[in-house]
Amino acid sequence: MNTENFSLSEKIVSSSYIRQGSQARRGHEQLIRVLLEQGKCPEEGWNESTIELFLSELAVMDSNNFLGNCGVGEREGRVASGLVARRHYRLIHGIGRSGDIAAVQPKAAGSSLLNKLTNSVVLDILRQAGVRSASSCFVVPMATGMSLTLCFLTLRHRRPGARYILWPRIDQKSCFKAMVTAGFEPIVIENILEGDELRTDLEAMQKKIEELGAENILCVHSTTSCFAPRVPDRLEELAVICAKHDIPHVVNNAYGVQSSKCMHLIQQGARVGRIDAFVQSLDKNFLVPVGGAIIAGFDEAFVKEISKMYPGRASASPSLDVLITLLTLGASGYRKLLSERKEMYSHLTQELSTLAQQHGERLLHTPHNPISLAVSLDGLQAHSDQAVTQLGSMLFTRQVSGARVVPLGAVQEVNGHTFRGFMSHSEMYPCPYLNAASAIGVTRGDVELCIKRLDKCLKSLRKAGSAGASGETAPPSAQEDQGAAP
Ligand SMILES: *Cc1c(COP(=O)(O)O)cnc(C)c1O
Repeated sequence: MNTENFSLSEKIVSSSYIRQGSQARRGHEQLIRVLLEQGKCPEEGWNESTIELFLSELAVMDSNNFLGNCGVGEREGRVASGLVARRHYRLIHGIGRSGDIAAVQPKAAGSSLLNKLTNSVVLDILRQAGVRSASSCFVVPMATGMSLTLCFLTLRHRRPGARYILWPRIDQKSCFKAMVTAGFEPIVIENILEGDELRTDLEAMQKKIEELGAENILCVHSTTSCFAPRVPDRLEELAVICAKHDIPHVVNNAYGVQSSKCMHLIQQGARVGRIDAFVQSLDKNFLVPVGGAIIAGFDEAFVKEISKMYPGRASASPSLDVLITLLTLGASGYRKLLSERKEMYSHLTQELSTLAQQHGERLLHTPHNPISLAVSLDGLQAHSDQAVTQLGSMLFTRQVSGARVVPLGAVQEVNGHTFRGFMSHSEMYPCPYLNAASAIGVTRGDVELCIKRLDKCLKSLRKAGSAGASGETAPPSAQEDQGAAP
């Protein structure tokens, strides 16, 4: 309602009540005004009525919601289902324009505003989370792997002769595919074992650069967040090497926004050396459905260049989801989630350590990994050969999701490249192990149930192992299909 409509209302309902109502509305509008003015995540979260008011104001600015619109184009933001329209708050036009995902869409002022605000609020959060000097970012409706591909494709224009991407090994197929899909040849740099940790081999990286020639290298593709016992790459040193040889540096920060350590590494890397872009998943960091990522960087022109590589228009859903989420949580709510996560990391560390001891195993010492933990399974392996894989399927059946069992010696081919010791980020990690992570949103209840079920599984496997030795059959869980595990 505008001022005019409020005055008209005063003729229908007592003006003192209407005045109160109009003040109440101003309360909502004041919050919206601050958001538009500053483009930052509000410190305190908004309630749902403010968010819905804001979204419906945006939607009426889009041509598909104009009362007098007559569309005779091939894309007019028509939807057949009311459910679908409501699912998107009637924002149907998506974001971008053919040729640039960041461009303003003339048919959709509301969606365009949503897009710009989202990118600005997300940048604010990335900065608050630790990458203080990030200069720009944008949300893409693609997951992390494809977003990395887009970064590599953009670099190709700058380095037309380059064929190789140097990549400290991380055993996640999408990372590898991101490079192959972009048309480049990944050069795998094996990690080195330091204590229990797998860390970046800087010497091998240097050697490879000299061997291949800097001009033939598209970029270094490093990783922060990863499964223990791998730890985040030595980002500062890599960034320095990249600066020295004038080689671009793209960082896969998949779920690193939730960890101040990962964010600090990126900030430091950019300060002392070179980082061109860093990419993070929306769902892994912001508790929204899978389907979006944030591409961010320190040079606005380069980030803009990446956004221009995106062909055509794009879904606004991931932007809408993350904006609604951040407005709901507020910066303080997001910080609270981050600190709860950290607390759960300590809790999980203690619980896993105790459990490991009780079963003759140990929590691997991986202090540089701020999210993921690993428990050795040596004892279990010694007890029975199949027990380690059985544990994986048992946990899966017992609805312990995300706990990942890594046996020794798995071999996996990805796009023609053979990975020995696949899943363990190394050709020869000394022991099989089990992973668990303290990721954003994890609760004390999750940790406690996981420990309880893990304890049960380990007990039953050790019993079954001895039984197996005396010729008895393994428990039914032994026949469960490991292939069903993610
Ligand atoms: C999740 C993840 C990916 C792949 O992300 P998608 O969003 O599925 O493309 C890549 N690398 C790491 C380290 C991840 O954790």
